[in-house]
Amino acid sequence: MDILISEVGPRDGLQSIQSIMPMAAKKAWIAAEAAAGVTEIEVGSFVPAKLLPQLADTAELVAYAKTIPGLTVAVLVPNLKGAAAAIAARADKLTLPLSVSETHSLANLRRTHTQMIAEAAEIAAMVRAVPAAQRPKFEGSLSTVFGCTIEGAIPDGQVARLAEALMAAGCDEIGLSDTTGYADPLAVKRVIRLVRGVVGNEALTGIHLHNTRGLGLANALAGLDCGMTTFDASLGGLGGCPFAPGASGNIVTEDLAFMLSAMGLRTGIDLAKLVAVRTIVAAALPGEHLYGFLSEAGIPLDFANSTRADSLEKHPADENDVGSCEH
Ligand code: ZN
Repeated sequence: MDILISEVGPRDGLQSIQSIMPMAAKKAWIAAEAAAGVTEIEVGSFVPAKLLPQLADTAELVAYAKTIPGLTVAVLVPNLKGAAAAIAARADKLTLPLSVSETHSLANLRRTHTQMIAEAAEIAAMVRAVPAAQRPKFEGSLSTVFGCTIEGAIPDGQVARLAEALMAAGCDEIGLSDTTGYADPLAVKRVIRLVRGVVGNEALTGIHLHNTRGLGLANALAGLDCGMTTFDASLGGLGGCPFAPGASGNIVTEDLAFMLSAMGLRTGIDLAKLVAVRTIVAAALPGEHLYGFLSEAGIPLDFANSTRADSLEKHPADENDVGSCEH
């Protein structure tokens, strides 16, 4: 596999909409998407049920998803308590969001940056206490990194300092998150260079993009140019954005998988099976709009061998394009 698509719809998608998806439908969604070849799914968030009733059943969902062979079961954890629950549930990957905007951090998690870094250190210690064979991966995700709806642009120095602090606190890796849908391709390249300059290339491989203003795939391509290998996406672009009414949520998993496949990059995903998963989600969320171009237009004829395992021979990726991050 060249590129890992991490499905975040069951977490980011569902947390952003009013409807509560029944547990049976969540399980069917996760199973069907794993069967389509998606190898990492963020199934929920360990937050208090009274804050996000849509995700109240995350522990049960982790337990279920862990029964699917080969699936990396990821969860969001807002704090130490959530991390403890995630470890108890035996999640494979924990992501702690840290908003680089302190105002947003206070509004969202009621924590200052100093408190969040201290929390990250406590979580890292808890993760390290887990026997190596079962130890989850611990990611610190820099959110609002392309701009905040309260503070606007965040100074580079602050972003760099927080990335460094998360790694020093014991995170295994750093992620970048365009929480507000403010990113553009040049900003993506600039922030990747900035953060890699502080934490190194190995510690930054994943990016979480929204399609709020239609730049989602362009931003993904910019990340790809910089050698990023993990991209979050949500089926049907589920989620929306409370700050941009009518806007879609994360980049659409189906369209991202199609773009990467068309470029000859291997994702392990069967496009036809992936598009078919929309039926499960649509049926469980009546009235909720699902986005996406591939599902509307259909899969081109030359995609008959949908996983295109041999596509690199047919369409070798241009080494000068993938991996260069100079512009
Ligand atoms: Zn998001």
